[in-house]
Amino acid sequence: MDIAIVGAGLGGLTLARVLHVNGIDAVVYERELARHARDQGGMLDIHSGQRALREAGLIDRFHAIARGEGQDMRLLQPDGTLLLREDTPDDAPLDRPEVDRADLRGLLLDSLPVDMVRWGHAFDSADNGLLRFADGGRASYDLLVGADGAYSRVRALLTDARPAHIGQNVVELGIPDIDRTHPDLAAMVGRGNYWVLGNGLSLAAQRNGDGRVRIGVSFYRTGEDWFATSGIPFDDPAAARARLIELLSGWDFRFTALIAACDDTVVPRSITALPAGLTWPSRPDVTLVGDAAHLMPPVGEGANMAMIDGAVLGLALAAHPDDLPAAVEEYEREMFERTSAAARMSARVQEILMSPDAGRKMLEFFQPG
Ligand SMILES: Cc1cc2nc3c(=O)[nH]c(=O)nc-3n(C[C@H](O)[C@H](O)[C@H](O)COP(=O)(O)OP(=O)(O)OC[C@H]3O[C@@H](n4cnc5c(N)ncnc54)[C@H](O)[C@@H]3O)c2cc1C
Repeated sequence: MDIAIVGAGLGGLTLARVLHVNGIDAVVYERELARHARDQGGMLDIHSGQRALREAGLIDRFHAIARGEGQDMRLLQPDGTLLLREDTPDDAPLDRPEVDRADLRGLLLDSLPVDMVRWGHAFDSADNGLLRFADGGRASYDLLVGADGAYSRVRALLTDARPAHIGQNVVELGIPDIDRTHPDLAAMVGRGNYWVLGNGLSLAAQRNGDGRVRIGVSFYRTGEDWFATSGIPFDDPAAARARLIELLSGWDFRFTALIAACDDTVVPRSITALPAGLTWPSRPDVTLVGDAAHLMPPVGEGANMAMIDGAVLGLALAAHPDDLPAAVEEYEREMFERTSAAARMSARVQEILMSPDAGRKMLEFFQPG
């Protein structure tokens, strides 16, 4: 059985690892040229996905790299009112620790034989058991698993669905080495998540393991072309910061001080999602895991779902080694149900974030009743 996994993200690598511990061979084809070719981004909040790490035999190694104190949370309103502060005790269970995305991907990569991941293989197309790569290379498969993320090319073999803009545009910035450069702001943000919500905007600051605080300023109910009309000059970081501060007019000066302290990395990101509850008629030779299957609003479920997908598919293949259609169907039945519930919940949280009174509504969400 030739299992070809396209994409060495969290979903594809978890699948590869669960297959490996169950003695099943597979090859992961990744378009990036090497593991450090691209910055992997910030922290991930890993909760239900720990189940996948258990199946992968990596839970202890995960706990060694996870940041329990990253669970700390401060929730504020734009006028500076503190709505909620949660500090994680030292002996608290690691229910939702934060982990650096690059560390988690590195943990999975290090757990695989080196020749299981083929770098520099950009998937182009596939049919009749033959994969084609962008450089003209080919490989055969019995089962092709698209783990190629939000803009999956494999997805088109199963469905016409495409991600659509969800009315959120984010500007990503960051403060490097914050303890040394801005100790006052470091104390304000704390060890974990710092959220300011309201007025159709949000500012999310989060301390990363390397001492950088990553900041995302989100503009809700904005269109796909919003960046073009926002007046934010992304090619001039100082002017971009000044424009952002202008767009946060009326916000407490402590929040705009965070923007002023950022370095010259200013990145626009348009947020898209697939329809919640997307399914497709099962095929014995192709399936999807992770964002390729169920890209959802970024409220902390995607990486967890991608890893569970990988584990569930790996276990189904181990349980039905001679029956690919049964394995794929069993996986997809579980995955469609689990991820449509997660996508609906993510859409509800997204609605809260988009509401004018987002801070209070989020407080009710965290502390119902
Ligand atoms: C800012 C932000 C914060 C987030 N925070 C959280 C969080 O706290 N918790 C959480 O659960 N989720 C979070 N998410 C969502 C999470 O990042 C994704 O859901 C998760 O990474 C999906 O994993 P994946 O393996 O499906 O895809 P990816 O991690 O995107 O991996 C896809 C891989 O496929 C490769 N690839 C793409 N095309 C091809 C091709 N043609 N050929 C070969 N390889 C290809 C890519 O290079 C990549 O390596 C966040 C997302 C964002 C944007």
